[in-house]
Amino acid sequence: MSVPVGASRQSKNQPDVFQTSDALSVLHSVFGLPGFRGAQEDIVRHVTDGGNCLVLMPTGGGKSLCYQLPSLLRPGCGIVVSPLIALMRDQVAGLLEAGVKAAVLNSTLSWDEANEVERQLLAGELDLLYVAPERLVTPRCLAMLGRARIALFAIDEAHCVAQWGHDFRPEYIGLSVIAERFPNIPRIALTATADDLTRQEIVQRLGLDDAPNFVASFDRPNIKYEIVDKTNAQKQLQAFISDRHSGEAGVVYCLSRAKVEDTAAALNKAGILALPYHAGLDARLRETNQDRFINEDGVVIVATVAFGMGIDKPDVRFVCHLDLPKSIEAYYQETGRAGRDGKPSNAWMAYGLSDIVQQRRMIDESTGSETFKGVSIRKLDALVGLAETVDCRRTRLLGYFGEEATGTRCGNCDNCLTPPKVWNGSVAAQKLLSCAYRTGQKFGAMHLVDVLIGRLTDKVKQFGHDKLSVFGIGGELTEKQWRAVMRQLVARGFLYADADSFNALKLTEEARGVLKGEIELMFREETGGTGRAPRSKSRRGDLAAPRSDNANPDLLAVLRAWRSEVAKKRN
Ligand code: ADP
Ligand code: MG
Ligand code: ZN
Repeated sequence: MSVPVGASRQSKNQPDVFQTSDALSVLHSVFGLPGFRGAQEDIVRHVTDGGNCLVLMPTGGGKSLCYQLPSLLRPGCGIVVSPLIALMRDQVAGLLEAGVKAAVLNSTLSWDEANEVERQLLAGELDLLYVAPERLVTPRCLAMLGRARIALFAIDEAHCVAQWGHDFRPEYIGLSVIAERFPNIPRIALTATADDLTRQEIVQRLGLDDAPNFVASFDRPNIKYEIVDKTNAQKQLQAFISDRHSGEAGVVYCLSRAKVEDTAAALNKAGILALPYHAGLDARLRETNQDRFINEDGVVIVATVAFGMGIDKPDVRFVCHLDLPKSIEAYYQETGRAGRDGKPSNAWMAYGLSDIVQQRRMIDESTGSETFKGVSIRKLDALVGLAETVDCRRTRLLGYFGEEATGTRCGNCDNCLTPPKVWNGSVAAQKLLSCAYRTGQKFGAMHLVDVLIGRLTDKVKQFGHDKLSVFGIGGELTEKQWRAVMRQLVARGFLYADADSFNALKLTEEARGVLKGEIELMFREETGGTGRAPRSKSRRGDLAAPRSDNANPDLLAVLRAWRSEVAKKRN
């Protein structure tokens, strides 16, 4: 360090003994912070004393300090693995400014620069060295580290090692070499996303089996969660931004590059300053857009998931999703970019049937193993469950990360603020399932709605569906409500869209329970638009309560036919 920091130097002569007074004095003098936050002190103590650990702390929680401070307190240099060059650059610049001797080793350095860093490391002149993962695993780098005095290894954004995670980076896999080559040097892995599976993968790959986990609360109380029924996503988005976040900075996530471009253009047309960001853009334009988002006021960035990691903009007031993310982890990570300054912020998502269908198809068509697909489907299902829940979203979200919420209602999510009405949709579900069945399980959502509502479209006439007993049995619900029923049946696994036959909606085996009246289905009533509770009496009034003893004879016929078909399939 260029500035004398007595405490730090002294403690370097007393390895492996954590002194609170030393730690605090470095915290004040180097980092300019008044004290520790949350679990930081315990983590710093543990690592300074030479222990391994896994740190799970939300974005903005203060993870960097957990390895930076022990690196100063322990003899030798702290080696930090970080996935992004920009992230490393920013951190090193901040540290140098604070008088810490920090350096980076990545592909942006020239041969001479890299040699100089190596010289400094071996001469014991560095406190912290940030290394790109692909660099660290090279024989040359490992040999260099073998000759240096190392205080600790920190693996930042450790979830990148998880193949089933949402942000897997192949270059992270090689990091298992750290535990193998340097078993006696403390390792600290840090991440802001860790559902149970991801946590297990980190532990296994980084050799942290016996290491304690430090888990901070993942709650972001200032973020209000809202998930709305998707009708016209771009219009809904425009209304959301102009009504509630006019002139404020936000991020809008879309799945595809084309949709990013399209949405950004639509927002600009509506008078909202929006810039696109995706991997297909020219690198310079991408950087310009990112810089403008960070430095100008009130810029909306419309992006694919390529955008966000390591972006530290405190006053992002909203994060929107126009497409369903892949998992709750991804949703949490992306929405977590809102409100790092602690001020009220929104996480808003528009979600519909097509989202589930699309994500399912992407999983089905992926090249992964069956296990991979199974895990992906489970993760998607958990997210769909969050989108469909009528209970507190925050409780559900935190529950996914294994955290018990303090109350059952947070008071700062759409479901808590305006509890959705639920209605018994068992009969509606039976009608819909029979309609899909009676029409041969060959048609998509639009046509089924036409048949249910009793619309004499050309297609209905062409297939003679107006002659079926299911024609017009669904007049008690609006089109929008039928779409919601359909979506919820798909979300709960009673119906699926068959990608091999133009997304025709087909019954799953579980649908039998619904048709038999064994499963009672409570649906959330969609708010906004024309959505309202279904009229209590069916217009055609020919369906009784959903019990098997007095179920509609037509439904029983469907059920019988269905059963024999399933039986045939089994044989
Ligand atoms: P993370 O990596 O967990 O997202 P950072 O390490 O980047 O978080 O820290 C986020 C912010 O919190 C930084 O601005 C940092 O200075 C601040 N911070 C960290 N620890 C403390 C603390 N003990 N007291 C006050 N601010 C802190
Ligand atoms: Mg960080
Ligand atoms: Zn809530």
